[in-house]
Amino acid sequence: MRKIIHIDADCFYAAVEMREAPALYGKPVAVGGSPRERGVVATCNYEARGWGVHSALPMAQALKRCPDLIVIAPRMELYRQVSGQIHAILQDYSDCIEPLSLDEAFLDVSDSDACQGSATLMAQEIRRRVWQELRLVVSAGVAPNKFLAKIASDWRKPDGLFVITPAEVDAFVLQLPVSKLHGVGKITAQKLERLGIDDCARLREFDRLELVRQFGKFGDRLWQLARGIDERPVEANSRRQSISVEETYSEDLPNLDACLAQLPLLMASLQRRMARLDEHYRIDRPQVKIKFHDFTQTTLEQAGALLSEQRFAMMLAAAYARGNKPVRLLGLGVRLLDLKGRAEQLELPFSSAASAPPRSG
Ligand SMILES: [Mg+2]
Repeated sequence: MRKIIHIDADCFYAAVEMREAPALYGKPVAVGGSPRERGVVATCNYEARGWGVHSALPMAQALKRCPDLIVIAPRMELYRQVSGQIHAILQDYSDCIEPLSLDEAFLDVSDSDACQGSATLMAQEIRRRVWQELRLVVSAGVAPNKFLAKIASDWRKPDGLFVITPAEVDAFVLQLPVSKLHGVGKITAQKLERLGIDDCARLREFDRLELVRQFGKFGDRLWQLARGIDERPVEANSRRQSISVEETYSEDLPNLDACLAQLPLLMASLQRRMARLDEHYRIDRPQVKIKFHDFTQTTLEQAGALLSEQRFAMMLAAAYARGNKPVRLLGLGVRLLDLKGRAEQLELPFSSAASAPPRSG
């Protein structure tokens, strides 16, 4: 049985803008294109939603519905940067992460031993850390597969966590409207409605062949989804954004000297992992991570690609001083620049990001 977490930031672009300018809190905010250039809303906050503003709405119309709406031009570079910071937190829980957009990702945590292997505790900790470290709210869903995990993250949004355990799958799916099923768009929903099918309980009354006759190959998929079956794997992006090593010590390291004594071993293991990277990567900023005996943790990252033992020692000392107490885990890492990914990104039409940023909810 797999354990999948779906993470989805609440009104991501707008939330980042509010964080950057706290005077915006409590006011209706939309990020998107200018009304004069027939722009549309990319993301808006919940105050704006209260006025009927939503993603993909023409900005001119949004301003009619909500005359006090504060319109902000998208800053994709900033959102990408913050997205990378969220991703860095997610990487502490799994190597198998499939990003869906800047603010959404699936994690397969089936083999993760973080939080004693409890996906629910991992989702709680991710939500808490993203808030504490980045001042952003993410909703999370936990389920045995991707389609249910994605529905679950939406179930208690905003600022929500919803868990569907394997034992609950059947009852949960039965009451699910068919419009919630993965891949069911407007056309399919209308066709299902004409057949008198509004929820999965009703959908289950149709046999597999009948559904295939009505919907072709997708009929088979409908038959499976109505039973909570979704075997799609979490497809991890094989390009890395960072590389790190960490060690949990069986006995706490009592002081800074004891931590520094571990540095040569950790560096050797980091260097072994770096040696396996392909030629498209460039080493970027170094990072250290400390988890103290009381499970509080801190990370420190510095600009500049120099990776000497002396440098890591200074960073370790600075990070240790934040807690100044016994240490149970030490980690070293580096951010990577992926020149391969960069070349691919440059091939995208330049204007699409500027004039019509992808939606985020
Ligand atoms: Mg979102």
